[in-house]
Amino acid sequence: FQAPEKMSTSDELDSYPHVALLPSSGMGHLMPFLRLAATLVQHRCRVTLISPCPTVSVAESRAISSLFSTFPQITEKQFHLLPFDPSSANSVDPFFLQWEAIRRSAHLLTPLLSSMSPPLSAFVTDVSLTSSVVPVTANLGLPNYIFFTSSARMYSLFESFPSFVASKTSSDSVQLDEVIEIPGLSPIPVSSIPPVLLNLNHLFTTMLIQNSHSFIKSNGILINTFEALEADMLHGINGKRAADGLPPFYSIGPLLPCEFEKIECSAPVNWLNDQPEGSVVYVSFGSRSALSSEQIKELGDGLVRSGCRFLWVVKCKKVDKEDEESLDELLGQELFEKIKKHGFVIKNWVNQQEILGHRAVGGFVTHGGWNSLVEAFWHGVPMLVWPQFGDQKINAEVIERSGLGMWVKSWGWGTQVLVKGEEIGERIKDLMGNEPLRVQAKIFREGAKKAIAVGGISERILKEFIEDWKKNI
Ligand code: UDP
Ligand code: UDP
Repeated sequence: FQAPEKMSTSDELDSYPHVALLPSSGMGHLMPFLRLAATLVQHRCRVTLISPCPTVSVAESRAISSLFSTFPQITEKQFHLLPFDPSSANSVDPFFLQWEAIRRSAHLLTPLLSSMSPPLSAFVTDVSLTSSVVPVTANLGLPNYIFFTSSARMYSLFESFPSFVASKTSSDSVQLDEVIEIPGLSPIPVSSIPPVLLNLNHLFTTMLIQNSHSFIKSNGILINTFEALEADMLHGINGKRAADGLPPFYSIGPLLPCEFEKIECSAPVNWLNDQPEGSVVYVSFGSRSALSSEQIKELGDGLVRSGCRFLWVVKCKKVDKEDEESLDELLGQELFEKIKKHGFVIKNWVNQQEILGHRAVGGFVTHGGWNSLVEAFWHGVPMLVWPQFGDQKINAEVIERSGLGMWVKSWGWGTQVLVKGEEIGERIKDLMGNEPLRVQAKIFREGAKKAIAVGGISERILKEFIEDWKKNI
């Protein structure tokens, strides 16, 4: 864990670049921004976090306030958003409505950014906000950096998707058996791209294309990945940037978990303390993937059938505030009793880092959110990836190719297929009994440690753009 840095004197602070960070909605976007904030403080930057408010989930507001109490030297600027507009966003997903509201409120950033003291040296925003923020920073003459919170493989889709769409006539639709050509890299099957992109008129699709067109106007793109994990992707992406007029691409991962993430929830860890080394499979689908109640029951049945010990975080609503059903209501009394005999099941937010880093955990069943994968990678835990939506199939491919995990393609997207307990149980047995995966995961863990150690490649890259920021003090 990163520990908070001691406070700097005011003389020291004068020599630090001042950077403001603006995350997008949802924990998957917020967590890497908060870890970036902590990392920048440790690398002698003065940091302001612009926090869009109100937040959607309890998890987000808790993480933000915990960051400020752990790092009193980070300044908060609240960014009061225009109201949600479900009619313009063609989605009822509150995280999506929040994202759309942040974009629509971007003009309100001008007074916020221009009044900061000392003046900003750089502004870092989530990739999904790029095209709405670029005109604001251009007007202020402020260097604009994009933080891409998914894999480099997913980034390659962002760069190439606009040309794929441009090659279609207006009456063409996107077919599932097509592939998207990625210059210099292997193509991405359309069946793996976020399903929402099949709808070329969806706001998410049109905004992704606009964001991609705006990359050229930014000063640099930061990404939470690193050489050992995506070497071929990084070389492919870096190789053609200058020729295409694209800004430098900085891989700075893995961003480390930090003190502020600690929470009052000791029960899962107390249970893990009593389990043998490497014997437990940890099951969690991140902060916003709700499984159907039928699928939750099949998964419970599968965990029992696997014969393995398990720690399972159950989630049946997208937004944590709404997740009120009790575990026995959700699972049924009979299954609930069986589950309690074999494992530990919980419906609260857990400290995933602490769990993945526990010696008892030997495997991870995950939806494939990029932060979860990077965390498992950091702790050397092999994975069974079960993509639910978004970038998760593309991320699953990265993990499968690295030999760090398995991906059962016939399970499709989470919502498409009801996967039966019997099959889930078999795959979990495969995961937990797979020695080559364990060996590979341990080797790659060393690669992650080297990347961020002093003088490691990610650390050197981080220092490179901080030096650029210093020129703007
Ligand atoms: N997370 C956590 N405890 C939970 C659920 C999630 O700490 O109970 C963290 C997890 O460690 C990761 C983030 O929330 O840092 C989720 O991001 P990810 O990209 O994995 O998936 P998303 O939630 O965006 O689908
Ligand atoms: N989204 C949506 N409808 C869809 C697909 C995505 O409303 O059919 C939303 C999703 O909930 C998120 C945003 O679009 O708020 C970005 O989706 P993405 O797949 O990139 O997931 P993320 O990276 O935000 O986890």
